[in-house]
Amino acid sequence: MKPILLVESCSRTYQKGTVQVEALKNVSFSMNTGEMVGLIGRSGSGKSTLLNLIGGLDKADNGHIWIQGKDLTGMNRKELALHRRNTVGMIFQSFNLIASRTALENIMLALAFGGKNRSDRKIIGKTLLDSVGLAERLNHRPGELSGGECQRVAIARALANRPQLLLADEPTGNLDSKTSLEIYQLLSELNRNGISILMVTHDEKGAEKIAHRILEILDGRIIRESKLKDQIETG
Ligand code: ADP
Repeated sequence: MKPILLVESCSRTYQKGTVQVEALKNVSFSMNTGEMVGLIGRSGSGKSTLLNLIGGLDKADNGHIWIQGKDLTGMNRKELALHRRNTVGMIFQSFNLIASRTALENIMLALAFGGKNRSDRKIIGKTLLDSVGLAERLNHRPGELSGGECQRVAIARALANRPQLLLADEPTGNLDSKTSLEIYQLLSELNRNGISILMVTHDEKGAEKIAHRILEILDGRIIRESKLKDQIETG
């Protein structure tokens, strides 16, 4: 199976006043195309830092990150912006939707830079919302939606530009257990349809239900890797 992601000896140190925080220390791992990997670890262990590097929101101090054979660490700002828009989709614990815009408008905005006209963006947005079970909520604003519905909108938005890799940072962190299960089921279905997913979570039990593999990170290093189930090759 082809790797979609290869992280090679990546480190990231933050400067906090006079103190240096080594958030990631020489981290290496890879992910197969079509795989779902759960990244677990207690708060402050470096999970979000790693996800932000892979998502192109931040740069590693050293090492390399290859996604579909392209090295992020050599990219300029424009190339990184294209990477964020087209190669990866990101979802977050706090959904990060635009409060003043409807569900449909949130998705249409994500499509705005792809050169599509407004009516095409509307059709794609509706199809995406339908695919996450929200066909009846197109014109609702985030404040008029439940947490689970907001996360579904965020997932639909993350898929807008057809990324190959979905990065999920604590996607169920603000949701009750029943809604969390529904979001896990949705992510699992997307994964079965071919998208690779790297999911950061505190919820090891939840991740074990859907991931092919779990990686555990502690103090900026990967300390454990456990394979849970075989990946069925798609496409
Ligand atoms: P996790 O996602 O596992 O909770 P993070 O990756 O957010 O962990 O943080 C790892 C470490 O890096 C923590 O000690 C945190 O305080 C520190 N850190 C994260 N972001 C910054 C930042 N922007 N500036 C300084 N320190 C940071």
